[in-house]
Amino acid sequence: MELFTLPGQQAQGKVWLVGAGPGDIELLTLKAYRILKKADVVLFDALVSDEILALVPKEAELIAVGKRAGKHSAAQEEINQLLVTKAYTRKNVVRLKGGDPFIFGRGGEELETLVEAGVEFEVVPGITAASGTSAYAGIPLTHRDHAQGVTFITGHCKLESRPMDWQSYANSANTLVVYMGILNAASIQHGLISAGRSPKTPVAIVSKATTAAQRRFIGTLCELAELAADPALAMPALMIIGEVVGLADSLHWFNPENSPKTLGASVKQSLGH
Ligand code: SAH
Repeated sequence: MELFTLPGQQAQGKVWLVGAGPGDIELLTLKAYRILKKADVVLFDALVSDEILALVPKEAELIAVGKRAGKHSAAQEEINQLLVTKAYTRKNVVRLKGGDPFIFGRGGEELETLVEAGVEFEVVPGITAASGTSAYAGIPLTHRDHAQGVTFITGHCKLESRPMDWQSYANSANTLVVYMGILNAASIQHGLISAGRSPKTPVAIVSKATTAAQRRFIGTLCELAELAADPALAMPALMIIGEVVGLADSLHWFNPENSPKTLGASVKQSLGH
């Protein structure tokens, strides 16, 4: 799709590509907060919570451009164009994404469009789902007794066109975090076990991590598909595969049942709302 710009004119606005963190409003950075408070328009994804959107000034325009597997959403080209168009008509344009904008967030693609259109931008990192989930599910991703490293992959794979490198993901000294993997749990389980990862490797699927609705589903690699099919599993959900998951019970601290339904109440108070 061709990008529509105004030849001979420079966009006066600026785009902030902002990470909103994994859910808990208190995991928003102070910088993201400051930028949201002065936004004229916010284009946000489906993963961004209502609580965070409530921080946006009343006068600002809120545009949902969210993507959810299988559901209707704006095409990436339309989002790219909208960002450019808004930068011509508004001063402070915020592109708000769940987690971190550069981790499976297509933030890079959107910035490439802004560069092409000559629009100024800044990037504000966010806490990615892997970090939020790791902390709130009691799973230290690189505990040195169990893992030498951690790999983040997307399980939303176009399997035929770009085959998964199961051989390298099957390394037993490594923790594997799978974003967007629930629908492909069976092939992930099969791929890893065929490549030599032990079927007894501990695995966790954590849904709605860092929120009052967080739930952990813990088992072993040979049960991954079964865990993913649990009717109680709500989206979004993240998989963590590796020996470090064995610590989840002893390092468990977050009790969603005991946390206030609106985790943001305390932060609103402390920020003077
Ligand atoms: N940019 C985001 C990831 C976008 S991809 C980030 O950095 O976190 C969307 C995937 O992220 C979901 O399919 C899910 O696997 C994961 N995810 C995002 N928020 C989550 C949450 N609160 N709990 C569990 N998984 C989450």
